[in-house]
Amino acid sequence: MPHLSVKDARLEPAIGAQAVVKGWVRTRRDSKAGFSFVEVNDGSCLGNLQVIAPAELANYESEVKHLTAGCSVAVGGEVVASQGGKQATELRADSLEVIGWAEPENYPLQKKRHSLEKLREWAHLRPRTNAIGAVMRVRNRVSRSIHDFFQEDGFLYVHTPIVTASDCEGAGEMFRVTTLDPADPPRDDRGAVDYAKDFFGRASYLTVSGQLEGEIYASALGKVYTFGPTFRAENSNTSRHLAEFWMVEPEAAFFELSDNIDLAERFLKRIVADVLRDCQEDLEMFNQHVDKTVLERLEKLAGGEFKRLPYTEAIGLLEQAGEDFEYPVAWGHDLQAEHERWLTEKHFGGPVVLTDYPASIKPFYMYVNGPDAEGRTTVRAMDVLVPGVGEIIGGSQREHRLDVLQQRMEEQGLDQADYWWYLDLRRYGSVPHAGFGLGLERMVQYVTGMHNIRDVIPFPRTPGSCEF
Ligand code: ATP
Ligand code: MN
Repeated sequence: MPHLSVKDARLEPAIGAQAVVKGWVRTRRDSKAGFSFVEVNDGSCLGNLQVIAPAELANYESEVKHLTAGCSVAVGGEVVASQGGKQATELRADSLEVIGWAEPENYPLQKKRHSLEKLREWAHLRPRTNAIGAVMRVRNRVSRSIHDFFQEDGFLYVHTPIVTASDCEGAGEMFRVTTLDPADPPRDDRGAVDYAKDFFGRASYLTVSGQLEGEIYASALGKVYTFGPTFRAENSNTSRHLAEFWMVEPEAAFFELSDNIDLAERFLKRIVADVLRDCQEDLEMFNQHVDKTVLERLEKLAGGEFKRLPYTEAIGLLEQAGEDFEYPVAWGHDLQAEHERWLTEKHFGGPVVLTDYPASIKPFYMYVNGPDAEGRTTVRAMDVLVPGVGEIIGGSQREHRLDVLQQRMEEQGLDQADYWWYLDLRRYGSVPHAGFGLGLERMVQYVTGMHNIRDVIPFPRTPGSCEF
């Protein structure tokens, strides 16, 4: 007999099919009329398949009537139109094989609802719940859209290294990679740990961004993107930060800031359109149980325009907001989450792209604008802010003028020798180029409405937590 997924068996065209469905039992209910209802889920969709298991089954008394949540089963039979109104189809079993039992006294996912916090302790079982199962299906759809969008747009997927010796953000929030014995490392004349004797002959770290390497490939292949794990040892225990997350980073030669913003806007709209079309059932669940504004928010993003405005204007709006912000608003200070939320949630009520930030608060590689009317220098940075999440994308046009770049590196105390290859790109056929980074988990948070980033990645890594 052909195998059918629960998803396919739930659809009307399956009616009449003889099939085997395999999955895990969610609930069992015995009817006095001589059969049991067994709800089976296999992760292919949110809904369960209703199995009708008649008392005539040889193992009905010995096994079927002992099924509990978590047991794995293979059910053979005919898909028929359902009598009940809740589903289109059901499976009339003529065989029900128990593949694995689940001790009812120990299985944590009993019918009672558990908090998302509690479920994090059971990261090995939580994908069997409605909420986390739905998140992971949406996450899969978003990942596929990312590749589809860039591939269809002529971007090439390049794989940038995970172990690196360069600190892209200059922020020093990196995890060290070493094979030295922590109890007895080699030391130099001054007593410092001698990383020249380490595995790579120098200090090395997990990547915080593939951007600099992405720029190399954009300077040869034109339009590229990376999509991979990224690591930041930032000790920020927020609902939007992970120590290990997945980042998508396009980088395009001959792009200026406005091209970069156009790309980001088209990109986000594409992902949202795909999810709205292909994840309806899951989205309706999020809209009902997680965040009642999800569907409305997504439809609005897909149809509307992103508001674009320079940092300097945003500061003006914030100063006149009449809000009692915890952190002061002043030109030259980075915007805090509360400021970003005010702009995107309260003031504009939709996505906002902030551009042209003060040079003093941004990394060395961003393109320097000439001084403004008041003599202040800005760089061509862009942050995309969305309601509910805040910053979802950070990017910029890159500085491609060798002399300006060198001056910025000097100002920021960076050793040019460490970046010789990066500077070479500005020596040989340098062109304007731009790119950005999107955090996959922030995107999944946005489309699902999940409040905590720990619930949108299979195995979250955060300060003090690396279980599973
Ligand atoms: P934030 O101000 O929120 O810490 P950032 O300015 O450090 O973000 P970038 O360095 O510009 O972020 O990284 C690009 C994108 O990567 C961000 O817009 C965000 O979507 C994502 N991102 C950054 N840090 C994290 C993190 N620790 N966990 C999850 N996603 C992150
Ligand atoms: Mn950060």
